[in-house]
Amino acid sequence: MARITLDNLAHSYKPDPKGEEDWALKQLDHVWADGEAYALLGASGCGKSTLLNIISGLLQPSRGRILFDDKDVTHAATAERNIAQVFQFPVVYDTMSVRDNLAFPLRNRGASAGYVAERVQTIAAMIGMEAELDRKARGLTADAKQKISLGRGMVREDVNALLFDEPLTVIDPHMKWELRTQLKALHRDFGHTMIYVTHDQTEALTFADKVVVMHDGRVVQIGTPEELFERPAHTFVGYFIGSPGMNLLPANVTGATAVTNGAEIALDRAYDGLSGKVEIGVRPEFVRLSDSEGLPVRIRRVEDVGRHKIVRAEFFGHDINIVAGEDEEIGPDKTRVTFDAAHVNVYADDWRVEGRAA
Ligand code: ADP
Ligand code: MG
Repeated sequence: MARITLDNLAHSYKPDPKGEEDWALKQLDHVWADGEAYALLGASGCGKSTLLNIISGLLQPSRGRILFDDKDVTHAATAERNIAQVFQFPVVYDTMSVRDNLAFPLRNRGASAGYVAERVQTIAAMIGMEAELDRKARGLTADAKQKISLGRGMVREDVNALLFDEPLTVIDPHMKWELRTQLKALHRDFGHTMIYVTHDQTEALTFADKVVVMHDGRVVQIGTPEELFERPAHTFVGYFIGSPGMNLLPANVTGATAVTNGAEIALDRAYDGLSGKVEIGVRPEFVRLSDSEGLPVRIRRVEDVGRHKIVRAEFFGHDINIVAGEDEEIGPDKTRVTFDAAHVNVYADDWRVEGRAA
């Protein structure tokens, strides 16, 4: 197992990159701690696979270095890096049995027959394919083949890191949950450094200790699920995580007061000399409906989603979503909203500003 350091890393698929937009991966410096489980979360096209393939050695970065512990592996071949990688779509040997597919990475490294047999059995149980071990992979469903790919990724105990690139895309929803649980168990038992790529926030938040959020070729925040929820470092994190995502309103902020469309909002912290595009962000969970105080809103729709209600409101052309209690009465007198001051974040040009004690 290893600590993985990305030092001044950047990548462009173009031979002669010019502007920002030519870089699929903008400059990145980050240390992946040994033995930690990370999720790499972001929308399609933001650079997740590019980053993963650079770590595994399938891709050479245009700039920067990769270290495994203190060893520079930037130019080392994939095999030398001793990494297991599982892709979005199955990679199996059709003519081999399920058993031989699972055993392949172990035999390839010269493991003893006894160990191979035992380990293959354990993995087959984890992916729920004990009954199919002697079948040929050919003719199995895409779903089953992907389970074999996952099993192959998990079979070796001595890898430096395990990389998963949206591995559950073709798996049916019920089995997804089951396999994710197995991956978590594997991490608990062996403590591998794991990087799990997904565009699904639920998957990321349930799998990982730390979530790395990418947007537009950049890592915009690395944090625990709580940190991403409480203090989104970038408006993208606020919008992408949560359902619905964080509300954003353009505002003028001076000291501990924000003014938006003539309405004043008290803040918990004070801000000086903000410039650029200034916005306040507040998650729907921290917005309350009121009949007498706060910003005037027009309620457009109320959605009952079981444990709570989502109220879709509008404030001078800006959407404001509110999470209301299951039993909360939402009558015509509810014409205003207030924000919980402790949970209002301030952004300048999309980045969160820390502010000072007010
Ligand atoms: P993700 O995995 O987050 O969906 P990718 O890392 O696959 O994103 O892609 C990041 C960007 O790089 C995208 O704009 C994509 O079109 C581009 N890209 C990916 N692979 C290649 C490639 N082989 N050649 C050129 N551009 C690529
Ligand atoms: Mg990808």
